[in-house]
Amino acid sequence: MTTTVTLTGTGVPIPSPGRAGPGVLVRCGGIALQFDAGRATVLRLTEAETGLHQLTALFVTHVHSDHVIGLPDVVMGRWIQDHVWKTGPLDIHVPAGEAADFAQRMLEPYAADIALRMEHVQAVPPEARVSTFTCTPGPSLVWSRDGVTVEAVAVHHEPVPDAVAYRVRTPDGTVVISGDTRVCDEVQELSQEADVLVHEACRTTALQTAVAGTPFEKIFSYHADTVALGGLAKRAGVKHLVLTHLIPAPADEAGEAEFVNDVRSGGYQGRISVGRDLMTLAIG
Ligand SMILES: [Zn+2]
Ligand SMILES: [Zn+2]
Repeated sequence: MTTTVTLTGTGVPIPSPGRAGPGVLVRCGGIALQFDAGRATVLRLTEAETGLHQLTALFVTHVHSDHVIGLPDVVMGRWIQDHVWKTGPLDIHVPAGEAADFAQRMLEPYAADIALRMEHVQAVPPEARVSTFTCTPGPSLVWSRDGVTVEAVAVHHEPVPDAVAYRVRTPDGTVVISGDTRVCDEVQELSQEADVLVHEACRTTALQTAVAGTPFEKIFSYHADTVALGGLAKRAGVKHLVLTHLIPAPADEAGEAEFVNDVRSGGYQGRISVGRDLMTLAIG
């Protein structure tokens, strides 16, 4: 068996050409797990040849709009095509709190559209089948099936409460998805000897002078500095570090090289990929 990891989006709230909002797709056999649903996730899933009916479950890291703005699109799209596929609602796993509140209410603005569609085609209304779990400082099991498990751990994205990273274990190996967080011990612990760590990345060193004294400066307190991230990846013994949620978005290979240089200066000597949308890695 092979497990694949596909970046369905490497962007951030500020739009950037070619970069959908944050998201990672992990596939193993017949299981397809989506993590976050940022802008244009449905489009990227389609390009990754994973239909909405083929998703097994979706996991949300936190309530920031760039990570959930595509969630109603996933749910409505799956519902609209369900008279063909008959797969039913998608299971959505969300940390309890504000992200869960969003997920449970996300279909409310579509009430008129839902009513109109039910007059014509749909026999049943769409369902946001949301399961919530409590954020814990150590890994807690959120989901498992056929030898594949998903665990969550609380990370540090304050002032956002209830933000988590996920660890996916399959018979082929281990994939960790940081969500949004500053570099923290929890992700380091979760990533010990991981085959792939998909981590958000913020080039503090490059931006510090330009944004000094502006409100934008605050982002450094809750995003992952690339130099410090190199230290984390080294200490955790990560085999392959994949950078995503790129701040600032690199426009070319020279811009990507600057991310790599930062991580190397932090001490990490393993394999690094600077994420591009639809980049796919195989493990196992
Ligand atoms: Zn965030
Ligand atoms: Zn974000």
